[in-house]
Amino acid sequence: MHCSDSRTALSARVDGEALPPGVTGPVLDAHLHGCADCRLWERRVLALREWTTRIGGTAL
Ligand SMILES: [Zn+2]
Repeated sequence: MHCSDSRTALSARVDGEALPPGVTGPVLDAHLHGCADCRLWERRVLALREWTTRIGGTAL
């Protein structure tokens, strides 16, 4: 699995969408386990999502 595929799948999973064809949760987790860059990327996506959710839940 390439990092670009992993990140596409991660962003889908963070958004609660279906994973891309050919990607399963365990495959994605295995990539994350071995790839610090993608772990960092996932953390950023999660932080951004939490931030936008919080903003969206207030006066906006
Ligand atoms: Zn990666």
